[in-house]
Amino acid sequence: MNGTIINYYFHCKRQCYLFANKLNFEDNSELVAIGREIHKNKEEGSKNAEIKIENIAIDKITKDYLVEIKKSDADKEAASWQLYYYLYILKGKGIEKRGKLEFVENNVGKKIEILELTEEKTQELEKLISEIEKLIEGDEIPKFKKIKGCTKCAYYEYCRV
Ligand code: SF4
Repeated sequence: MNGTIINYYFHCKRQCYLFANKLNFEDNSELVAIGREIHKNKEEGSKNAEIKIENIAIDKITKDYLVEIKKSDADKEAASWQLYYYLYILKGKGIEKRGKLEFVENNVGKKIEILELTEEKTQELEKLISEIEKLIEGDEIPKFKKIKGCTKCAYYEYCRV
């Protein structure tokens, strides 16, 4: 399990399944390239470069917050659960923070959301993790169904065949 798998679960179950099962065409995606540039700029402009803990990569940790940086707020629910997951993993290691989602799309300016991993959210997250594990460990690849964002997805060519 990792944050990207959780994020994809909300965007598209097929994308979640393919990525989790290592069908990885991510490098060809323009959106992934843009995301990489955002991360690169952030790393150059900050002392707090990306931090890797086990299988999760955290954008930034400050005194109070764990910060996740996203290109846009188009998929806020997915980004939020990804961040809740990071807060959960960190809490398991005895580090308790609040989450800060930063959306940095140029034509909108920076938008910020603050998240708190409450007991209720923790229970929802644990239920979500079980659901995702069931999906990705299954034998059946979720069927292709065109959705908003398909044309920008790294798996689009694969799905169209
Ligand atoms: S192209 Fe569309 S259906 Fe296929 S994995 Fe991507 S988002 Fe899902």
